[in-house]
Amino acid sequence: MAGNDVTMLKIAVLYPELLGTYGDGGNALVLASRARRRGVEVEVVQVALDEEIPDAQILLLGGGEDGPQRQATYGLAKDDTLAKRVNDGAVLLAVCAGFQLIGTSYEVEGGLHVEGLGLVESVTTRGAKRRVGDLLTRVGNRWMVGFENHGGETELGSNEVPLGVVEAGAGNGRFAGGARYVDGVRRGNIFGTYAHGPVLAQNPWFADELLTHALGRELEPLSSVADDLHRSRVREIGDFHDDVVDY
Ligand code: GLN
Repeated sequence: MAGNDVTMLKIAVLYPELLGTYGDGGNALVLASRARRRGVEVEVVQVALDEEIPDAQILLLGGGEDGPQRQATYGLAKDDTLAKRVNDGAVLLAVCAGFQLIGTSYEVEGGLHVEGLGLVESVTTRGAKRRVGDLLTRVGNRWMVGFENHGGETELGSNEVPLGVVEAGAGNGRFAGGARYVDGVRRGNIFGTYAHGPVLAQNPWFADELLTHALGRELEPLSSVADDLHRSRVREIGDFHDDVVDY
């Protein structure tokens, strides 16, 4: 359904009662606000566990603790609607628990392995320690700032491409050549990351990238406090890294 010249944008927050622990529902607010400011009509729907996933152009999965994460997985796995929506072109942003559960499998505390949805090829196992703290990732020539809080480490399948390369923090907690960790996954219209924040509030350029995909057109630039904040954070980062090409 996602495609060209969309004037009405539907954003679905999936299972916010289970996957909303870290404020990731805020991603919907950011997308809605930035789309509306470009004259796009927006509808945001919250989809509960027993409800069907609507035909929306953007689908959002957030983070959560192991228990709710499993419940959400079982709910999403009861039919193939999510896979169908994504195959039909919906943009999917999956954060942390959401990212883990769209993969092949993940392990929760206590050693139980849970089958994921298999939308991307990835295996999450328990790491030696919980990863809590700032997460700074290079995505193309952009910086993504956020924070992470997870016990799982994610190994991507050989055909998968990470969303970004980690500069500070752990992200997936796995290396992709060299000595750098990578974060998340990027496969077509699927974007996975360990970054909370909410990630789109902290990285408005990323919100615009998702909107561009969903609306099928370039967006005019926007100024906002969030853009200013990101710019100043990047400037500070730039004091340490000469090769920052952002702004
Ligand atoms: N329960 C998962 C883990 O600890 C995901 C946590 C999260 O979503 N922040 O690895």
